[in-house]
Amino acid sequence: MAILPIHEVPDPILKQVAEPVSQVDDRVRKLLDDMAETMFAAPGIGLAAPQVGVSERILVAAVPVRDGVSEELEEDEEMGSESFLTELINPVIVEREGLILFDEGCLSVPELTIEVERSERIVIEALDRNGAPMRVEASGFYAVVFQHEMDHLDGVTLYDRISKLKRTLYLKKRKKRRG
Ligand code: ZN
Repeated sequence: MAILPIHEVPDPILKQVAEPVSQVDDRVRKLLDDMAETMFAAPGIGLAAPQVGVSERILVAAVPVRDGVSEELEEDEEMGSESFLTELINPVIVEREGLILFDEGCLSVPELTIEVERSERIVIEALDRNGAPMRVEASGFYAVVFQHEMDHLDGVTLYDRISKLKRTLYLKKRKKRRG
């Protein structure tokens, strides 16, 4: 496994609509492994393939999914734990309901947190790492995580959700900090 460099805005790959995966093979499984290692090392709670420079519809998330449903953590469980890895290939939201507002951050848009409105509960259909169909139901924070990562597959980041003026200020600030 390897930790991959994370692409940050305004990298054009983050604006691309990612391609569906046509064959789930060893190449894809290696990418999933590397993405998981990269996410946990960051540390982050989700990571989409375009963030590591691969424009394909693949994401990983540290979401506890049991029997196809996201579950609240038990008291002794830690958010972002490596035992809660969920991998989705070609994910599609097939059901959604309710609304939730949440302050989101992104590994590709460092030091920016903005409130985003999402569906409160979603059902996703995707392929697993063996190419078999899978279904995940997620609600609350975990629904937010999946929707955030799926935005990346459509070339949308938090950076696109702020005004043009704020984008200019953000990039200026980042440039200054890098020296
Ligand atoms: Zn993100």
